Amino acid sequence: MTQKLFHRPASAADLLITNAHVLDPRTGIDGAHDVLVRGGRIAEIGAAGALSAGSLPPTARTIDATGKHAFPAFVDPHVHLRSPGQEYKENLETGTAAAAAGGFCQVIAMPNTAPVIDAVTVLRSLITVAGQQAHVPTGFLASITVGLQGSDLSPMAALSDAGALGFTDDGKPVTSAGMLRKALQYQRLAGGVIALHEEDPALSGAGVMHEGAVSARLGVTGIPSISESTMVARDSAIAKYEDARMHFQHLSCIESVQALEYWRGHGARVSGEATPHHLTLTDEAVRSLDTRFKMNPPLRTECDRRAIVEGLRSGVIECIASDHAPHARFEKEMPFEQAPMGTTGLETSFAAVYSELVKPGVLPLGLMVERMTAGGALYGLPIPKLEVDAEANIVLIDLEASFKVGEHGYASRSENCCFHGRTFAGVVELTVAAGAVVYENGKELNR
Ligand SMILES: [Zn+2]
Ligand SMILES: [Zn+2]
Repeated sequence: MTQKLFHRPASAADLLITNAHVLDPRTGIDGAHDVLVRGGRIAEIGAAGALSAGSLPPTARTIDATGKHAFPAFVDPHVHLRSPGQEYKENLETGTAAAAAGGFCQVIAMPNTAPVIDAVTVLRSLITVAGQQAHVPTGFLASITVGLQGSDLSPMAALSDAGALGFTDDGKPVTSAGMLRKALQYQRLAGGVIALHEEDPALSGAGVMHEGAVSARLGVTGIPSISESTMVARDSAIAKYEDARMHFQHLSCIESVQALEYWRGHGARVSGEATPHHLTLTDEAVRSLDTRFKMNPPLRTECDRRAIVEGLRSGVIECIASDHAPHARFEKEMPFEQAPMGTTGLETSFAAVYSELVKPGVLPLGLMVERMTAGGALYGLPIPKLEVDAEANIVLIDLEASFKVGEHGYASRSENCCFHGRTFAGVVELTVAAGAVVYENGKELNR
């Protein structure tokens, strides 16, 4: 198989983590343990206090993780790293540093860059840069259509051979059903998943937030939920007809969850993702007209939010994805109507969902960890697991400690986080990705 994840060379970790509460819902481990990492792989998992660092080289470190949790490190299947072309917002180095700080060991970057990743040469040069700069293994989606224009298919088979994990026109929908059908037929040869940003431009119009009571009060043009849900229903029907594999990005409303559930129940091979902001915020936040709350799809109603949470709980929605979308300060410091859409999220995904949904008892912790690690598998990537002989992909988190978002700045180059100023529980202490320590709280690691 072609290599699909790329990162800079890093030295394999030798590490003894003692007395951590180790939790991996897939292997069933849930309790106090020691974890021994040798040469970047998990060599032993033993009872708390049972393991010694004796078998490790003298340079190895021991980390007392008493009171802290160790999970398989997280996977984010939807991030915008803005390279090539918009490095003033983010680049591969800063974006993957934000991922490491958020506890992630894999991220998948979107192709709506400048130029768009619609040609093998663009993808190849990005892969080269990732091999020099990416702190965590990074995969790339290529575009479905040339220039995201919706009129000509990208060379999908060649892009897949060159390392693309799948295809998306994210930022834009594939408006033409005929074009989408053609893409699904080519996908049979090319492999990879077709991922869709679902939106009917004729329904979204010039909308800048959810169409509802709040937009009416503010006198701001709205984007109705049917702009998304009618496209989820249409495209699920096409996926079923073509027996194609399709993934829906950032679902935001109850009707979309219902459509996904219906079509999955009727044999369509469709999956979905939810963002921390759609899981925890509503259009009430937009009353402030703070442009950090402007994103696409927009924050919707409490009823929609609850449906997204229930979809995630039941498994209709398989995974959490941040849709990390950095923008420069000068771009976001605009009147609400003119500001670009998007919020950063890599550094707050875990803490936001943990604080808002797990701590209050809405979602079990193990389920959240499962959904935070499931996104790569939808694109055929290996799932990080805490088990002997596995590559070490571990995040160590202090669930008792809290932090104020943005208080110490961000590892991301941008600061347009919708959770800015909020206090959340769940501080990432250490991230091990692909066998190497890539983040340690309070320490600068080869930036
Ligand atoms: Zn999108
Ligand atoms: Zn996106």
